[in-house]
Amino acid sequence: MNITIATLFPEMCEAVLGESIIGRARKSGAITLNCRQIREYTQDKHRRVDDTPYGGGMGMVMQCEPIYNCYKAVCDELGTKPHTIYMSPKGKVLDQNKAVELSKMDNILIICGHYEGVDQRIIDKIVDEEISVGDYVLTGGELPAMVLVDAVARMCRGVLSDDVCFTDESIYSGLLEYPHYTRPEVWEGEAVPSVLLSGHHKNIEKWRLEQSLKLTEERRPDLLEKYNSEKSE
Ligand code: SAM
Repeated sequence: MNITIATLFPEMCEAVLGESIIGRARKSGAITLNCRQIREYTQDKHRRVDDTPYGGGMGMVMQCEPIYNCYKAVCDELGTKPHTIYMSPKGKVLDQNKAVELSKMDNILIICGHYEGVDQRIIDKIVDEEISVGDYVLTGGELPAMVLVDAVARMCRGVLSDDVCFTDESIYSGLLEYPHYTRPEVWEGEAVPSVLLSGHHKNIEKWRLEQSLKLTEERRPDLLEKYNSEKSE
C-alpha cells in the first residue's frame, strides 16, 4: 500500500504519522507514506496557492494548478493513476467498510483542503471520491486525512501482528467490544470480574459476548439490529 498526502502542512501529518504503529509500519516497509507540499507545485513567484472566490464571499479558495501539478508528479512517479480522495465535509462519511475497501488498494492519493476548500474544477477532474470524517467542519483536511490513513493502514498486511487484531474489534466485529481489565486485581476497591480470573476459556468467551451484546444494545441499537439480521441469514 502506497499512500500520498497532498497538503499545505506536511509537517503536521509527519508529526503524527511518523509515530507509534503507523510510524513503525513505515520504517518496516509494510506501508509507504509520503507527504507532498502543494506549495512546491505552484508557478507563482510568491508561492501562492489560493485566491478569492468568484462571486464574492468570505475566505479563500485553493487553486487548481498547484494541486493538478502535484497530482501529475505523483502519477508520473507511480507510473499509474492513484485512487484520489478529497477530504471534505461534503463527502460520504467514513466507516469501517470504506476503510476495508481502501485497505485493499495499491495506491491512494489524499488531498487536504484548507480555507473555503478547493476549486470545484480540480475535484471534477481528478477526484474519485470525497470522504468526510463526520458531520462537523474542521479548519483543514489534515486531521481527517490522518484519521483515514490510520483506519486504513492498520488493516494492511504486516502493520498489526495478526488480522485478528483488527477483525476482533468494535464495529468490525459487528458489535461494540466487551470491557478490558488488567493488573492489579483490585484497584481503588474495585475488583476485576471474577470470570476473567477463572482461566475457564469457554466461560470467559461467553461473558465477553454477553457484555458486547449488552453494550451494543445500550449504545448502538442500530448495530445490534444489523448484527442480528446478518446472523439469522
Ligand atoms: N467551505 C467548506 C464547506 O462548507 O463545505 C468547508 C471548508 S473547511 C473549513 C476546510 C477544509 O477542511 C476542507 O476543504 C476539507 O478538506 C477539510 N475538512 C473540514 N471538515 C472536514 C470533514 N468533516 N471531513 C473531511 N474533511 C474536512
